[in-house]
Amino acid sequence: MSSPRFCPYEEGIDSRSPNRNLAPLSAAVDLEHQLWVGGCRLADLAARYGTPLYVLDETTLRAGCQAYCHALARHYPGESLVLYASKAHGSLAMAALMASEGLGLDVVSAGELLTAIGGGVDPRNIVLHGNNKSCVELELALEHGVTVVLDNWLELGLLERLCNQRAQRVRLLIRFTPGIECHTHAYIRTGHVDSKFGFDLEELEAVLRRLATAPWAEVAGLHAHIGSQIFELQPHQDLAAIMVKALVRARELGHHPKDLNVGGGLGVRYVASDDPPAIGAWVQTVSAAVVAACHQHQQPLPRLLCEPGRSLVATAGLTLYQVGSRKEIPGVRTYVAVDGGMSDNPRPITYQSRYTACLPQRCRDAATDTVTVAGKHCESGDVLLHNIPLPPVASGDLLAVWATGAYNSSMASNYNRIPRPAAVLVHGGQAKLVQRRETHQDLLRWDILPEHLRQSGSVPIG
Ligand SMILES: *Cc1c(COP(=O)(O)O)cnc(C)c1O
Repeated sequence: MSSPRFCPYEEGIDSRSPNRNLAPLSAAVDLEHQLWVGGCRLADLAARYGTPLYVLDETTLRAGCQAYCHALARHYPGESLVLYASKAHGSLAMAALMASEGLGLDVVSAGELLTAIGGGVDPRNIVLHGNNKSCVELELALEHGVTVVLDNWLELGLLERLCNQRAQRVRLLIRFTPGIECHTHAYIRTGHVDSKFGFDLEELEAVLRRLATAPWAEVAGLHAHIGSQIFELQPHQDLAAIMVKALVRARELGHHPKDLNVGGGLGVRYVASDDPPAIGAWVQTVSAAVVAACHQHQQPLPRLLCEPGRSLVATAGLTLYQVGSRKEIPGVRTYVAVDGGMSDNPRPITYQSRYTACLPQRCRDAATDTVTVAGKHCESGDVLLHNIPLPPVASGDLLAVWATGAYNSSMASNYNRIPRPAAVLVHGGQAKLVQRRETHQDLLRWDILPEHLRQSGSVPIG
């Protein structure tokens, strides 16, 4: 390889808070206006791994983890632990990477729990969430000694029975809804009164009383999470104050809670006009609010836990597509279709989410075209980007959509029986496959054709 000269893709990049950029920190442009990430040319990755392809930048992932950890060390005088909310992107590689940065994991199912364990995360640094955990999931948590985030009365009864059967204690964080409204999409708001998650603030007293006489339970702390893609700091500040008050009450009732888990929710930049707070500012606000509330109530500082998902992984990721057909409707719109869509990125059709894209092989060309990027699924709503400016786009071009690292691969489906994409982790000129592309055989593996429906002409695939 000749040594191409590079300049950064994005101007004014915030290297300390990756959630504030569109592109991964390592995104760079060479003299031929080709885009590189993690020292890999995107066109080469597409040729080698095919499209659609999820590309994850290791530098950005590590920078995000370090931003949280360093800010906590700087702004919070007590102990702290960052738990990565693994539903944002779940894979063995991501679990292992997070653990290597000293993070724990927040998991919501047996599948996510086994992924965390498989990735080498210390079970003491795993918390199990869920508003309807199954017996299997709770037993798995007990077996591995992970902390359970207690969500409801049914679960309390189940845990009591399982712990007594196994003659075991369980470490609990109690989840409650703090009654905080924040400005984000209704589907990803979780802290308001009308939420399916956790106990009502009014119920908390009864739960704490009930557990005060439960030898099987150790109330290790409290948990709340107010929502996702939040750009305001005030709700997080209010939350800290409410939580410390609840902590005081728990102590009055004879518990010895050590942990205060304030959840996640910090937003990221998806389009140029998005301006989320920096990770450092979020941590500083939360830390200051917890310290102030503890001071006011004359309480010792709890261990401060937080659970960022999106802000750790979103802007580390991009999705590479190949452009296919183009449909021009004069005076109305120009559609270009890509070889993926709502199956690999369900966020636009689910939450009307917006994204930004570029042509990685001509990324400095003037944006003289305006196109709507559609997916290939049988839904008119399967549109990834509406009316975006791009250089003239032709069939065969590669298209990169920024900031797809969170809630894309983890929410991917097989709608229209389309195999899910591969994912590669890039760093220092090397690409490592971390999720292989699904095959058509994979898709047919779960189907069973009953004998009486078999046609004489049906041909087994694979
Ligand atoms: C989804 C979720 C998170 C992470 O939210 P982000 O907005 O991705 O940071 C943290 N905690 C809980 C309980 C969650 O459900």
